[in-house]
Amino acid sequence: MIMRIPFFLFISAVVLKAQTPDLEKYIEVRSGSLPIILTVPHGGTLKPSNVLARRYGVTGMDANTIQLSEMIIEELEKRYGGRPHAIISRLHRTKLDPNREIKEAAQGDPTAEAAWRRFHDGATAACASVMKKHGMGLLLDIHGHRHLDQRVELGYLVKADMLKRSDAELNADAALIASTSIRDLDKRSPQSFAELLRGPQSLGGLLENRGGFRCLPCPSKPNPGLLAGYFSGVYDVAAHGSRNGGTVSAIQVECPWHNVRERPEDQRRFAIALADSLGVYFEIHFGRKLK
Ligand SMILES: [Zn+2]
Repeated sequence: MIMRIPFFLFISAVVLKAQTPDLEKYIEVRSGSLPIILTVPHGGTLKPSNVLARRYGVTGMDANTIQLSEMIIEELEKRYGGRPHAIISRLHRTKLDPNREIKEAAQGDPTAEAAWRRFHDGATAACASVMKKHGMGLLLDIHGHRHLDQRVELGYLVKADMLKRSDAELNADAALIASTSIRDLDKRSPQSFAELLRGPQSLGGLLENRGGFRCLPCPSKPNPGLLAGYFSGVYDVAAHGSRNGGTVSAIQVECPWHNVRERPEDQRRFAIALADSLGVYFEIHFGRKLK
């Protein structure tokens, strides 16, 4: 018995040492100084043979979202003198989907499970750091979609059929507001919940006005309508936004291919518009300057 405990610890140490360098390569965790956190779960291309392929769920990657996020980080730093926190999965989605609960995300593979924990522990720590330093903040979960209607889809955990309601109906639904990833921001913002979602100074409104990017929701497109697809947000914004408490709110940013992810010049133009928009967004809704 006396011999077994040190042996177990020894084995654990060896396993941990063997896993750590790979995990750092699979999940990049960068700390920042701005009250902004970027999570990038689906842009990775690594397919290590020691991680089992996922057997069910979505496995298509969000091409160019890491390159796009790097430009967003650069443009934020240029304007506001600091970097956002960033958590980036470099594993291909066939190996890990951080934007799902661990069972579907890793499907039992121990290395994928450890990578999933590193991703979410990194996001949790980034949120804690932002709350400690700034009191409040915003997490953007960066994705890419291939819907026919090429718009930047902003997800707040408000489903498409809910967006079909009137502004007055949305503003009156306290239970709905409390179930969104911007629950805390709604309390801080001087604007109504519906304005936060699709007013001229919502993130969609700002991106459309400042950068000419077609968005959803936004003033000119308050809901998806009958045929268009729309992603309202999944695990990352639910786990790390303010739905369950805390003062970091979260928005899923689903980027179309054309005009946003396709070419480096598109990525740059979008990164500039997003960085500019966030400065205005923080002043209006969070009541503070980013710089
Ligand atoms: Zn995605």
